[in-house]
Amino acid sequence: MLLDKRVDGETILTGLIGNPIEHTVSPVLHNSLFSMLGINGIYLPLKVDEKALGNALKGLKAMGFKGFNITIPYKEAVLPYLDEASGEVRLLGAVNTVKVCGDRFYGYNTDGDGFMRSFFEETGTGFSDKHVCILGAGGTARTLAIKAATENAGRIGIINRTAARAEDVASCVNKAMRDAGRREDTAFTAEYGSREAYEMLSGSDVIINATSVGMYPHAGNSPLSDDFVFRKEQVVYDVIYNPPVTRLISQAASRGCKTVNGAGMLFYQGVRAFEIWMGIEVDGITAGKLFAGFRKYLQG
Ligand code: NAP
Repeated sequence: MLLDKRVDGETILTGLIGNPIEHTVSPVLHNSLFSMLGINGIYLPLKVDEKALGNALKGLKAMGFKGFNITIPYKEAVLPYLDEASGEVRLLGAVNTVKVCGDRFYGYNTDGDGFMRSFFEETGTGFSDKHVCILGAGGTARTLAIKAATENAGRIGIINRTAARAEDVASCVNKAMRDAGRREDTAFTAEYGSREAYEMLSGSDVIINATSVGMYPHAGNSPLSDDFVFRKEQVVYDVIYNPPVTRLISQAASRGCKTVNGAGMLFYQGVRAFEIWMGIEVDGITAGKLFAGFRKYLQG
């Protein structure tokens, strides 16, 4: 008989709390990392009912979990349980990664770092002095706008269907940058569908879709109309990874733009969480190999 010795009394425990959790791909990523790096650890999906959140968090601490991720709908609800929060968590008001140290919870948000590492790896460039245009003003748009600003983007345009949310993201970015010593505003808004928005998009080096428009099962939709004329020098990054080729990506690719989907952001935010828990750096060769497999896995 073949004995399964993968889990024993010394196995490091990590996991993900959220609800629903059935479609998560994070266990594949983290458990593959444990295997590839020869670390005796496991990552478990943990479906938690809203009323049980406090008890679940106490339980993770009591059972010696080393760390865990948090997904919808608890990214804000976990904040009061943190003993310390990273700068990103304080700015964004959302946490996706917790490291457990003794009886203390340290909160992080790795989405911005994940996006940035994916952007560098997949385009070979960064944001320094670039004009960036972000479609959307939800939690993801806010994270990416702040990350692009801290990576020295020259100018950031925020375009959103609900104008007040775009204003809110732009002021958050400008305040964060003023606090960091920058004198002029970095972020500006334009009305969704307006001539000004078109010009802002046309003049950008990088266009990022951070809306949910085009996501499965509405793959036929795009946040930009077919008459938008991309320049082939533009990089178009769609945070959506399902479908892997969104309508926006097709529109941009047909004009010769460099395009990237959200698989890399998803992958590298997980890698960053793993690094935080384990106190190690996942080398580029391991990450690259695993990313190739993970991307195929996402495509089904
Ligand atoms: P969110 O907070 O709910 O924001 C959704 C955004 O999409 C808002 O700006 C909303 O505009 C806009 N939107 C929705 N429907 C629209 C429509 N029909 N027309 C125009 N705009 C529309 O969501 P989020 O958490 O930021 O997530 C946004 C996207 O990022 C999702 O597709 C999500 O799957 C993806 N994501 C990817 C990763 C990754 O790792 N790749 C990580 C996180 C999220 P209003 O403000 O006007 O409603």
